[in-house]
Amino acid sequence: MRISFLTLKKLLWRVCLLVTTISLSLIALPTPPSPARPRSQRNSSPARLNFNANRAMQYTREVVAFGPRPIGSANHKKLENYILAHLKGDTVEDDSFSADTPEGQFPVHNIIAKFSGAKDGIIVIAGHYDTNYPLRDTGYVGANDGGSSTAILLELANQFRGKKRDGYSVWLLWTDAEEAVKQWSPTDSLYGTRHLAEKWQNDGTLKRIKAFLLADMIADADLNVERDANSTPWLEDLVLQAATGLGYQSHFFARTIPVEDDHLPFVHRGVPCADLIDLDYGYGGVFHHTPQDTLDKLSPKSLEIAGRVILETTRLLDQK
Ligand SMILES: [Zn+2]
Repeated sequence: MRISFLTLKKLLWRVCLLVTTISLSLIALPTPPSPARPRSQRNSSPARLNFNANRAMQYTREVVAFGPRPIGSANHKKLENYILAHLKGDTVEDDSFSADTPEGQFPVHNIIAKFSGAKDGIIVIAGHYDTNYPLRDTGYVGANDGGSSTAILLELANQFRGKKRDGYSVWLLWTDAEEAVKQWSPTDSLYGTRHLAEKWQNDGTLKRIKAFLLADMIADADLNVERDANSTPWLEDLVLQAATGLGYQSHFFARTIPVEDDHLPFVHRGVPCADLIDLDYGYGGVFHHTPQDTLDKLSPKSLEIAGRVILETTRLLDQK
């Protein structure tokens, strides 16, 4: 096939024009608009709300891998050491005592990691690490009830560690012996926090606590955090404000119920408290306190929602 010189010249000219047109249209291509940030984030620093959900989920797996962790057990001791190993280099207060229970004397060990802030006052963020005692021989591992609360605090420690805090001091509290040993009652439950609330009242710490945030059973893949009628209304409102600002409001406060949990000894002493708990674990709560409380029911997304809402609530409290 032959191409005449004239045709070739024309062709080259056309190619030249085409390339120029394409280049020009590429330059002129409008940049896509960046998605608008939610109003709540405009004046805040989302970078401060980092929460590594996959790492929190990995902590939950490692905690569950110890097996049942009721008070007085070897697994419980292993978990204490695991928590303390993660807090190496942090300021840690150890609150150990012997609890009188219907099943005899047990060593109880609350663990507190302290991250100091510039403002005078303390925000306590708590969660229990013991697992249900009556179910100790059923293979019950408490992935959500005991596991998720232990893990979320470990990840929160990663977020507070090594950062200068302009707000209040933050104390992370791993509570022990939250669970009843026989049957839940005011005297057979909350052994760790009943002891600590009294101790902190006696040594003057209690009146420095601006807020007590509690996380319990917060990794359910179907997360529905209750509005707790036993918590402090203005602090519950602040939690909802934080959740709404982050776009998580659909996971919060669909129902209101009174919850008995580790915050009660502090509520009774006048400390503002909010319990972040999802008691609707499985249809009608069928997984709660059963050997079905296992890792497959959990989601890292739920840990992230709870973790970020706690961090945002802390940020809002700092401004008060
Ligand atoms: Zn429980």
